[in-house]
Amino acid sequence: MVITRFAPSPTGYLHIGGLRTALFNWLWAKKNNGKFRLRIEDTDLSRNKQEAVDAILEAFNWTGLHWDDEVVFQSERFDKYKEYVKELLDKGMAYKCYLTKEELETIREARMKGEEPPIDIRKYRDFKGELDKPYVIRFKAPLSGKVGFEDGVKGKAEIDASQVDDFVIARSDGTPTYNFVVVIDDHEMGMTDIIRGDDHFTNTFKQVLVYKAFGWDVPKFYHVPMIHNEKGSKMSKRDGAVDVMEYKREGYLPEALLNFLVRLGWSHGDQEIFSIDEMIKLFDPKDINKAPSRYNKEKLDWLNQHY
Ligand code: GLU
Repeated sequence: MVITRFAPSPTGYLHIGGLRTALFNWLWAKKNNGKFRLRIEDTDLSRNKQEAVDAILEAFNWTGLHWDDEVVFQSERFDKYKEYVKELLDKGMAYKCYLTKEELETIREARMKGEEPPIDIRKYRDFKGELDKPYVIRFKAPLSGKVGFEDGVKGKAEIDASQVDDFVIARSDGTPTYNFVVVIDDHEMGMTDIIRGDDHFTNTFKQVLVYKAFGWDVPKFYHVPMIHNEKGSKMSKRDGAVDVMEYKREGYLPEALLNFLVRLGWSHGDQEIFSIDEMIKLFDPKDINKAPSRYNKEKLDWLNQHY
């Protein structure tokens, strides 16, 4: 069975790029009689807001993109993540790193200048003792070999594993990081296909290493290029409404907005107007464009009049 998901971080309203990602996942699940699931990525307790969760659910209700099963909240799963961190520590696949903020800053600065850092980021990789100092937990990335995956949009992606740092999987306050928990949840929620923004493309190498560390199957990934404004740069508030609910307030039909979004980055010949059923029938993530799409307000208005 195909299982997809949308996994927003609730730090603000739902923006149209997020809704497009959700739509692609929803269509692909529907087309395959699979499941579309919703997960709220609220591990950063200082930044998350209940209003943002409400805004996301409200936008989903308005657009009719209903999810299957219960909504999963990462903030309720910290105990589970801790068990997995412990498992990697016990297996020697992760370690406590005691580098101080100053040492990390020195490493960062040297790297920015393209110089070899005077301190090794992997300094504590083979350290066996315990220090009475704050620590983070780092994943032991392989020092040789390749890491890669087949991206359904971009094709084969492969790099030397040594290019991946020993990344942090748990912060000094014990909270786990995105690249770690995303893998645990995608595995436990049974994801088969993950369609998401290509801002996560490089993260995927780290995530593949985590899948391998646990011996889990890697889902199929599709990284979708960003939506650009009419000038070709990243969308911002100045380029029009980016909050999905703003379109509701402005009187747009949710179906017209979905039709507009499905055409941002995906096409089926020259066809412009699609019913929801047609989108479900015709959508295939392998037809997602490799180039960023352009937001075009006139097109949206035209669709809204013709829908
Ligand atoms: N929570 C992440 C975000 O909002 C998405 C993670 C993912 O799709 O893997 O960017």
